Amino acid sequence: MNSIITDWSPTTVEVVDGDPFNVRRIFCVGRNYAAHAREMGHDPDRELPFFFMKPFDAIVSSGSLIPYPSSTKELHHEIELVVALKSGGSNIEEELANDCIYGYAVGLDMTRRDLQNEAKKLGRPWDMAKGFDNSAPCAPIHKIENVGNIKDAVIQLSINGQIRQKSIVNHLIWSVPETICYLSKLVELKPGDLIYSGTPDGVDAVKAGDHLHGTITGLTDLEINYR
Ligand code: MN
Repeated sequence: MNSIITDWSPTTVEVVDGDPFNVRRIFCVGRNYAAHAREMGHDPDRELPFFFMKPFDAIVSSGSLIPYPSSTKELHHEIELVVALKSGGSNIEEELANDCIYGYAVGLDMTRRDLQNEAKKLGRPWDMAKGFDNSAPCAPIHKIENVGNIKDAVIQLSINGQIRQKSIVNHLIWSVPETICYLSKLVELKPGDLIYSGTPDGVDAVKAGDHLHGTITGLTDLEINYR
């Protein structure tokens, strides 16, 4: 069978002291910090984790200049810890989940909030609110063996020098191992999968011309400009 020649190639994320990481899929956790769940009008105590996806070519590297996306007047920032998997499986036990992790990175789950609110109201899918072009900025990955206790890390996002979001990874409702365990009951996880683990409170609008600076203790900063 003949193959069709295209200019397509896999998306990669830079790795600190390592070869580029080939991205297979991007899973995202919804409402995984209690304060953010509350700011979105939900009771965090009653919810199991839920997931949505972005296409892998939504990845944007740190230092990029991104066009303000089409079809929105309300682009929101969500700073998140990104978990990169080196192995996968189904029904992964929580105690073994860390063995699947290749490393961590700082990421942004960019969201067309107006489209998401409309989708919620109409009971429609979130894909076009979450999985649009350039919607998954991701800084270089640090291998897990070079990162300290990620639970103690401070996660923060500033825009034009002003802090908008700040929390501690330990405030995740569903920890990284719990998230991997739960997600692996829904799908078979694979090497190359990324998990955007959810955002703390303080999500807000981004304008053209804004400079976004995301940090997580021990990881390489994420810097993005919008034009
Ligand atoms: Mn998110």
